[in-house]
Amino acid sequence: MELSELAGIGKTRLKSLEEAGILSCRNLIEHTPRKYYNFSQPDEFVSNGSYKLIRARVIGDARTARIRKNFMMTTVKLEDSFGNVFTGLWYNQPYVKNTLKFDEEYFVYGKDDKKRKNTLVVSYYKGANKADGIAFFPVYKSVDGMGSEAFRHAIDDALLKEEINSVISPELENEFAIMNLSEAYKKIHRPESLSDINVAQNRIALESIIPIAYASEEQIKIGRAARMNSYSHLKILFDEYKSLLPFTLTQSQEDAIFEIIKDLESNLSMNRLLEGDVGSGKTAVAMFCLFAAAKCGFQAVIMAPTEILARQHYELINKLFGCDPEIKTVYLSSSMTAAEERRVMGYLKYGMANIVVGSHSVFSKNVEYNNLALVVIDEQHKFGVRARAALQEKGKNVDTLTMSATPIPRSLALALGGSLDISVLAARPHAQKVKTNIVSHAKTNDMWNYLNTKIENGSKVFVVCPKIDDTEDDGILDSSSAVSVHEYLKNKLNTEVVLVHGKMKREDAEKKISDFKSGKSRCLVSTTIVEVGVDAKDADIMVIENASNFGLASLHQLRGRVGRDGRQAECYCVVQNDISPCALERLKFFKNNTDGFKIAEYDLESRGAGNVDGTQQHGFDLSDITLFSIAQFELAKKIVKKVKQRGESLNISDETYQKIVSKIASSVAMN
Ligand code: ADP
Ligand code: MG
Repeated sequence: MELSELAGIGKTRLKSLEEAGILSCRNLIEHTPRKYYNFSQPDEFVSNGSYKLIRARVIGDARTARIRKNFMMTTVKLEDSFGNVFTGLWYNQPYVKNTLKFDEEYFVYGKDDKKRKNTLVVSYYKGANKADGIAFFPVYKSVDGMGSEAFRHAIDDALLKEEINSVISPELENEFAIMNLSEAYKKIHRPESLSDINVAQNRIALESIIPIAYASEEQIKIGRAARMNSYSHLKILFDEYKSLLPFTLTQSQEDAIFEIIKDLESNLSMNRLLEGDVGSGKTAVAMFCLFAAAKCGFQAVIMAPTEILARQHYELINKLFGCDPEIKTVYLSSSMTAAEERRVMGYLKYGMANIVVGSHSVFSKNVEYNNLALVVIDEQHKFGVRARAALQEKGKNVDTLTMSATPIPRSLALALGGSLDISVLAARPHAQKVKTNIVSHAKTNDMWNYLNTKIENGSKVFVVCPKIDDTEDDGILDSSSAVSVHEYLKNKLNTEVVLVHGKMKREDAEKKISDFKSGKSRCLVSTTIVEVGVDAKDADIMVIENASNFGLASLHQLRGRVGRDGRQAECYCVVQNDISPCALERLKFFKNNTDGFKIAEYDLESRGAGNVDGTQQHGFDLSDITLFSIAQFELAKKIVKKVKQRGESLNISDETYQKIVSKIASSVAMN
């Protein structure tokens, strides 16, 4: 079934869908709702800037006014079931005037107008009696150029017409008493109960886990590659390294380095994952690896997920090793001029530089290394697995250290058939004290008044927003976007408020960050770009807008950005007034727990359960390996066993299968 065969999909909409990456009916169906509104629990009309679904009675006559060419407004007086009277406003939908009936009840969905008081800009409405039988109202990530109603219709039509096949047979679905996949998609798009959503989410997640379980079973356990690059005098180098550091290593940092030394002295190449909570000091361990490789005559790379973080590493390396004549460090970035890039690449090819720092560009096709022997990958979960594999192919049997703040359960790593060693940093150099608060959106004004006095007394505030400037269904700028929040705070706070996000030029972003670090600005508004980097030691307040939109692991990372110098710090999770009980429960767990590993465990266990805000996408991506629960992986393995016993195979193309195999091979058994 082609997308163009769906009702209402003409050339223009087809193009919009294509641009959003939706190329087939299956893609469309896989575009699951971002969140749901509950028809049986309509909201009250309050002017708080957030989206709401209200049950309201028409108590006046609808009017349409033509403001200017191609701009019309239809308004009507409405009263919600709590007795609040407000105006419903429709832009450019003059026909609404004739459909609204006096004294009838409607569900209206939208958010209040910024300029007009007591007014709800309606992006969706439905007669209350017509809504019978629909318990939840799904909200999708918007597709540019396609209205939300049209999108919902297209989904309905696709659910009706497209055949959705699972990777396993319907018989097996039956045998294991798991929901039929096409049923799961119907339920996730048009749920009738909360449990529908949970069960469907789990089923859809399972669909992507089965091929992983299958491929990992197929993998022959290849032994670790033999050591090619031999190291000597590592203990002496370690002593020298310690003398360069401005602090004393913690016991667990020392232990991790000893494990690495053993790896480098053994006759097999290293494949080690360094896990440690945010702020546990992973960088200092990584720096030793780079130092050792360079001093033993090899080239080493450290790859970070963002330019900002890479830049920070570069500066640190220069600080630590800048005086050592044997070490020459270069920085490689996609935003360099062609001439600069040529120069740096020449250094690498002819071995004139031995440490290189960068983001993705360090493994790009045209970069050649003279004798790359060691690779450090920071925040490994941020990288696609292919990126890692590509980097390793740049040398011969390279030693690899990957670092992550997200614990990969050991059993899961082993289940995936890899030969991966793990070091864990336990103790933190500074005990971090961060008091966490949950604040509802309606109370943010009070919060900012309070934070303003804190800023006047020397506090430094990070504000993190879930998106840059995305618009919701109806093209209205979301109030929790970085751009909106920056606008709001600019006039509110007694400090320069800087804005940093991924769509900015690197130089601009760096300038803003350095203003924040130096204290010229005491408030930095950004997207999660700061999650994996910006080390402003004296920042003591973290505000997270629309916190339920983030996974707990991300929230924990963000919280770890403040209080790094051991001072009492605070974290504020701002939530929508209508936050679901399940989402609130997750946040409360986060508020009451500071141990990152505990938080990750809770996240693993509760995932899929009651995630009504629907923020996670269960697409297949092995870098999200930590996202599925062990129970689900075990189930997937059982199913796979049955498939094989029967001499059947999975219903996937060879190409997809090969992709999965190579992902697994490079992600875990990095040989
Ligand atoms: P992460 O594990 O999150 O990458 P970092 O390596 O960035 O953490 O370290 C967090 C902070 O702690 C940095 O500012 C670093 O300089 C500091 N730090 C690291 N190790 C020590 C130590 N042994 N003693 C004191 N401070 C340390
Ligand atoms: Mg780090």
